[in-house]
Amino acid sequence: KFFTVFSSADAATRVLQETFGYPRFRGLQQDIVNHVIAGDDALVLMPTGGGKSLCYQIPALVRQQQSGGITLVISPLIALMHDQVRALHEVGVAADFLNSSQNLDETRAVERRVRQGDTCLLYAAPERVNTARFLELLDDLYAQNRLALFAIDEAHCVSQWGHDFRPEYRQLTLLHQRYHSVPRIALTATADALTRADIIERLHLQEARLFVSSFDRPNIRYQIVEKNDARKQLLQFIGQEHEGEAGIIYCQSRKKVEDTAEWLCMQGIDALPYHAGLPAATRQQHQERFLREDGLVMTATIAFGMGIDKPDVRFVAHLDLPKNIEGYYQETGRAGRDGEAADAWMAYGLADVINQRRMIDESPASEDYKQVMRGKLDALLALAEAADCRRQRLLAYFGEASEPCGNCDNCLHPPSTWDATQAAQKLLSCIYRVQKMSGITFGAGHLIDILRGKSTDKMAQFGHETLSTFGIGSDLSEIQWRSVVRQLLAMGALRTDASAFNTLQMTPQSRDILQGAQTLTLRTHERPARTRRSPASR
Ligand code: ADP
Ligand code: ZN
Repeated sequence: KFFTVFSSADAATRVLQETFGYPRFRGLQQDIVNHVIAGDDALVLMPTGGGKSLCYQIPALVRQQQSGGITLVISPLIALMHDQVRALHEVGVAADFLNSSQNLDETRAVERRVRQGDTCLLYAAPERVNTARFLELLDDLYAQNRLALFAIDEAHCVSQWGHDFRPEYRQLTLLHQRYHSVPRIALTATADALTRADIIERLHLQEARLFVSSFDRPNIRYQIVEKNDARKQLLQFIGQEHEGEAGIIYCQSRKKVEDTAEWLCMQGIDALPYHAGLPAATRQQHQERFLREDGLVMTATIAFGMGIDKPDVRFVAHLDLPKNIEGYYQETGRAGRDGEAADAWMAYGLADVINQRRMIDESPASEDYKQVMRGKLDALLALAEAADCRRQRLLAYFGEASEPCGNCDNCLHPPSTWDATQAAQKLLSCIYRVQKMSGITFGAGHLIDILRGKSTDKMAQFGHETLSTFGIGSDLSEIQWRSVVRQLLAMGALRTDASAFNTLQMTPQSRDILQGAQTLTLRTHERPARTRRSPASR
């Protein structure tokens, strides 16, 4: 027994070096590979770029050498499958895929190779698993003891709490039920506690060993700036730090993707749009250009990126707030996969907060689900508002303790802070009085106008000049007031009501602030946003 384990480890290292050309394993790869080769189940949480593929590709090769069996890899995206299979062919590994891009003849040819034992790794889309034809193939292999391993990539797709839920993933439990002696490895770069628990439960991985890599990406510098003129800020960021370099810019809507790409081109930056509404051929072409050419900027919705293995993406920028920290981390993780310095840059403002809240409120999901989504959004907002180390907060969110990093905006330029408790009290009492007087509340803009004592048509229409809170906040700028509103939203001491024009509403937590039981410290936003990298650290 000892001898088998020893020689398997040897075989794994040989495959790593001779087939893949890498001198040594990275991080937990070796432990994972040995565990899986030995026939045990594994759940692997590893950040994007951490090297998940080898964790099942090497066991696939070693197990095939040992028993002639095949590894089935479940992968959610056709593009991802094609890339992986192409990369395997380049290093001389027999691999195939089955997905909807193939006609019947092609499908038959793949099935034939599989049955003849001519392929080592078979990639398939999750929906295949529910087709009679495919199950018949697996049944036959299983009967001949030729199913070596199931690898379930992007396993978070099984979780409705994940940012990329795919109902087809739910069917994957069938693999375990029907072929229960086949070892399984599930892999994901999304690892918050809730998603993790969901993956284990949904895929019946209770017995699997959990491998959690550090999620830290030390070469990525996190920066989150207050949005005032987002395009101008973006242009400045690219111009000052990333001229002529490859990057990805995430926007929320397709229209904004297109507008931003067009605008960047007019500013002399080579930018291409990518979103699910573009013709497949255009998407394919843009993706290929981004991968092959130097210094292109991809302006995209989150439809772009999963499985994109471009090592030298020097920056990822967000012009809109993602839905949660998992999404943010996944997207920013596409920067700097080569280990060289890279930037994660985001501009965000009050409108983003309100917008994301509204999308949750208006979604047709259950109230429980919405509650979870709101909690996740709040965690992201707290990150955006933070005055301390961003990385420390990010890692803490994934359950990892760390020290201040020295490579984020807050570490490099500690923001000054101010005590906003009194300001928050003024705002909350203003909302209270407005509600009492008018029977309804208002959006942030009007409430701030009241506090700052601004005479507008709306003010006259509702008679709000007569409120005792009119003008009591003229000492603060509008920017400062917006920051107070955002922070109160982030901590749940205010909420927006989508069914009533995004008006600001008090919550039970508002009372803690009003009664002085909770203080509020805010970052001062008027600060230089520039964080130029010194040549030495580049
Ligand atoms: P993930 O799927 O976790 O995002 P990949 O499997 O695509 O990551 O690996 C990311 C990059 O790291 C790839 O270019 C891969 O070839 C490289 N890589 C993985 N393992 C090693 C290793 N042990 N040594 C050197 N490079 C590696
Ligand atoms: Zn830091």
